[in-house]
Amino acid sequence: MQNTYQELWQKTKNHLANCYSETTFNDTFSKVNSVVKFQNNIIYVLVPNNYIKTKINHTYIEKINEVLNTFTDEKLKFKFVCENEIKETPTTSSFANNRLYINHLNENHSFESFVVGDSNNFAYRICLNVAEQPGFIANPLYIFGGVGLGKTHLMQAIGNYILDKDLNKKVLYVQANDFIVDYSKATQGNNMAEFDLKYNNLDCLLVDDIQMLEIGKKSQQEFFKLFNDLINRKKQIVITSDCPANQLKGIMERLTSRFSQGMTVDIKRPDLEQRVTILKRKALELTMKKIPDDVLYFIAQNFTDNIRELEGALNRVIGHSEVCNYDDITLDRAKDALDALLAYKTSNETKQQANSENILSVIADFYNISISDILSSKRSQNYVIPRHIAMYILKQKCNYTFSRIGGILGNRDHTTIMNGYNKIEIELKTNKELQMALDTILKKVNN
Ligand code: ADP
Ligand code: MG
Repeated sequence: MQNTYQELWQKTKNHLANCYSETTFNDTFSKVNSVVKFQNNIIYVLVPNNYIKTKINHTYIEKINEVLNTFTDEKLKFKFVCENEIKETPTTSSFANNRLYINHLNENHSFESFVVGDSNNFAYRICLNVAEQPGFIANPLYIFGGVGLGKTHLMQAIGNYILDKDLNKKVLYVQANDFIVDYSKATQGNNMAEFDLKYNNLDCLLVDDIQMLEIGKKSQQEFFKLFNDLINRKKQIVITSDCPANQLKGIMERLTSRFSQGMTVDIKRPDLEQRVTILKRKALELTMKKIPDDVLYFIAQNFTDNIRELEGALNRVIGHSEVCNYDDITLDRAKDALDALLAYKTSNETKQQANSENILSVIADFYNISISDILSSKRSQNYVIPRHIAMYILKQKCNYTFSRIGGILGNRDHTTIMNGYNKIEIELKTNKELQMALDTILKKVNN
């Protein structure tokens, strides 16, 4: 069974009692007993006066939180407050008796730390509106986009914002696959209590990477219930995904159709200037050293698809300069630091390119046309079908984004690719000839 907040404080306090002399310990902690609040991963403990509070904050706070972390895997912290700092009347009993409810939000994911540019401006504004008026502006809010472009960050910013305004709101961030795990555990152990404690009475539910729900059919039913309950009670739901709702695979339609009933926003890849701004912002957080613009531009030009990778590259440059004891960071040193990473990236890209070329050449062979016919805009069925098949296989097999496939297939728009993909998918359900053609092509591609 999980600890209650009160138990966590008690355990921490007992541990501290063994670390200090009795007088020292009693002077400070004898009257520090009650947990009065838990929000945003912070456990609030009541202290009798400002003097004790200052003393704890000066001398003991680090140790206390260190000890706390030995009792729990969650990133929790204690904060010490006097009675006048607690906004509501202390609800000691209800909070202390609660089992640990954790919102799983990363507090660094805020609107302030999110760099806004053309790629995400609309999504940002809608999210901010939703955070200001949860349940009213867009419900559910459905955010989609490629990997590492800030979906989780933005969704959590909504949760953090809601909690900043009102600590008593119950916000929960959960990855879709964790929902499946929670639900399976609850049904297998025949114990819905933990599950209900976590998911009941939410004010805001943030479900990340909904495409993962594909693997849990029973969980989808349960999620459907939860979803409807929240929407009916005008509680905010935010969902992220790697694709638009109508392209989700293996998720029941009555669910996906509801996903698009609120509002859908997408996040695109950031442009160069935006990437540089993100790097500048990150650099300020990470190091005291000044990083020259040419270094930042070099990183931004080489890491274009994914902000997580962009940050990773910056981390590497900074780490490298620390390990080597450099006083300043120069372009040559940055290139040195990123050498291995860039070589790996290039070889991966070459591999992917070879991969798509191979797919196109197998399709061209099969239909007895040329690759340039596939890439052309010729409208005859002799070319259109192989072109659509190329779209389908590049998506299914390589899992490229639609815009990337558009790039490969002669700079076509991503919606054209999406339509081609859907056509093949629908056709495959009934067209045996097409199924066989696809099987044969795939066998050759796999060889
Ligand atoms: P996704 O969920 O889309 O895969 P994340 O939200 O996890 O992406 O973002 C990856 C990393 O990039 C995180 O560290 C996040 O804080 C950072 N990040 C993404 N977008 C931005 C942005 N616009 N401004 C600042 N940091 C960002
Ligand atoms: Mg994410």
